[in-house]
Amino acid sequence: MTTGVEHPSGTRVFTARRILAMDGTEPEAFAVADGRVVATGALAALADRYPRATTFGLPGALICPGFNDAHCHTSQAALQRVRVDVGGAASVDDVVRLLARRARHTPTGRWVVGQDFDEHTVDGRVDRHTLDRVSTDHPVLVIEHTFHRAVVNSAGLRALGYQRTEDAPPGGQLLAGSDGAPDGWLLERAWLDPWLPGNGRPSIADPGAIADQLLALDEVHEELHALGLTSYCDAIVTPVEEELYRAALASGRLTPRVGMLQWHSYADPNDRSPWADDGDRLRRVGVKMMLDGALSGGTCLCHDPYPSATGRDNGLQILDDQEFAGRFGEFHEAGRRVAVHANGDAAIAKVLDRIEQLPSRGVRHRIEHCSVVTPELLRRMRRSGVIPVPFGPFVGLFGDRLLELYGPDRAELICAHRAMLEAGLPVGGSSDYPIVSNNPLLAVQSMVTRRSASGTLVGGSQRIDPLTALSVYTKGSAAATGEEHRKGQLAVGQLADFVALEEDVMTVEPDRIGEVRVLSTWVGGECVWQAPAESGE
Ligand SMILES: [Zn+2]
Repeated sequence: MTTGVEHPSGTRVFTARRILAMDGTEPEAFAVADGRVVATGALAALADRYPRATTFGLPGALICPGFNDAHCHTSQAALQRVRVDVGGAASVDDVVRLLARRARHTPTGRWVVGQDFDEHTVDGRVDRHTLDRVSTDHPVLVIEHTFHRAVVNSAGLRALGYQRTEDAPPGGQLLAGSDGAPDGWLLERAWLDPWLPGNGRPSIADPGAIADQLLALDEVHEELHALGLTSYCDAIVTPVEEELYRAALASGRLTPRVGMLQWHSYADPNDRSPWADDGDRLRRVGVKMMLDGALSGGTCLCHDPYPSATGRDNGLQILDDQEFAGRFGEFHEAGRRVAVHANGDAAIAKVLDRIEQLPSRGVRHRIEHCSVVTPELLRRMRRSGVIPVPFGPFVGLFGDRLLELYGPDRAELICAHRAMLEAGLPVGGSSDYPIVSNNPLLAVQSMVTRRSASGTLVGGSQRIDPLTALSVYTKGSAAATGEEHRKGQLAVGQLADFVALEEDVMTVEPDRIGEVRVLSTWVGGECVWQAPAESGE
C-alpha cells in the first residue's frame, strides 16, 4: 500500500536495506518530489505509481531523517577560521607566533582575536604577560573554546577599562595574578559584554571580509554534511553572523537548513518585521539569553554546593534576577520564543519561576543545556510547555569530569535524556559545536551507553535505546525550533532531508555507533555530500 498525493514527474524513489521513517514505520521505499516526501510504501507500488521516477537503490544502507543539531555555534566555527584559529596550537610559543603573525598585518590599535583556545592542549599557562609578547600596541583577545572565558594582554585590559579585579561587571569576573592585579583572564560577562555589546555599539570582534567568511562557512558546512547533519540551530547570532548567513543564502550556497537564535542585546521585542521570515532554509527561531555558567567547566549555578571553578561553591549567575526577569518578560510578551542557557538546577528553577509568573502566550520557550535537573523541575517544564535542549555527547566526552564535579548521585540526573522523555517533554539533540565535535552518532553513542572516556558508567539510569536517541536528533530537534510539522520524519509532506549510513545503528555494538560511516547526505531530495569512493588499493 502506498500513501500520498499523485506527483508524476521529476519524482525520485529511494530504497535501502532499512528505512527508519521515525513515525513508527519502516517503509521499503519513499518517493520525493519538489524537495518533499510525497509517498512511502512498497518499492513495487511506488514504481507502479511513478513509472518515470528515477530510483536510487542503497541496498546496504540504513536511511533515516537527516540529523539536526538544535544548539551549536557553526558561524563561530567559520569565523574562528577567519580570525586566528589557535585551536591546533600545542605550545604557548605557537599561540604567540600565530597571533603575532596576524598582529603584523593589523593596523595599530585594532584588536587581534584568537579563537578556540584550549589550555589543556598547550604546554604552559597563557596570561596577559604571555600575550604582551604578541604586541604591546594591539589589544589581543584569546577566546577559550568553551566560550565562557577569554584572556587579554595589557593593551586589552586598558582598552576595556579594566585596572583592578573590582572593575568586573556584574555576572563577570577578572582573575588575579599572584600580585593581586588582573592576570588577563576574563570570565563570562567581563569579555562577553564588549564582544556582544548590542546594536549601535562597537564590538571588539572583527569579522574579516565577507568573501573569506563565506569560504570558511562552506568548509564547515561540508564537514557537517559529512556527519549526516542536514539542519542546525545557531545559538548566538548577531548582525555579523546573520549577514553571513543571508549572503550564503543569496548566493545559493546555504546547503543545510539553519535556524538562528538572536543574541538578546541585538533583539528588539517591538520589531515585528524580521520575524515574519519563515523560509525553510534560513529563519530566525528565537532570542538567546544566558543565565549561568558552564557544565563541564564547573561554573553552572547549582542549588547544592560543588567544587566550582569560580571558587564560589554554587557556580556563577550571569544575568542578575531583575535584568533577566525584565528582558525575558519583554520577549515573552511579544510572543517570541526565548532560549535560555541554564545548566544548573538553580538556574533552571529561575527560568521556570519567571515563566510561571507570566500569562501564557502559546510560545514554547527552550532551556539550553538544561543539564542538572530534578523530577520536580521536569514536571514544571512539562506544565509550562518548555523544551529542553540538553548536550548529546557530553557524558561520553566529559563523564569523568562530571562525576568529579557533581558526584555520582547528581550525575543520575545530568544530561537526563530518559527522565526528560519520560516526563513527556520533546527533547532536542545538541552538541554546542565547536566546543566539542558535532558528530551526531557520537552523541547517540553517549546517550545509549552513558560511558565516559575511561569507560565508567555515568548516570546509567539515563540510558536510552538507539532509536530513541536518533529521534532526539531528528524529531526532537525539529520540535525545538517549532518545525516538527516539516522536519524530523520521512513522512508524506515532510522535507526530504535524510542520511544514508553504512551500518545499522540499531544493531551495531553500542560502543561503535560513533564510528558508523555516513555514505551520503540529502537535503530537499538533493545530494549535498557523498562519501569518497574507496580506492582499490
Ligand atoms: Zn552554546
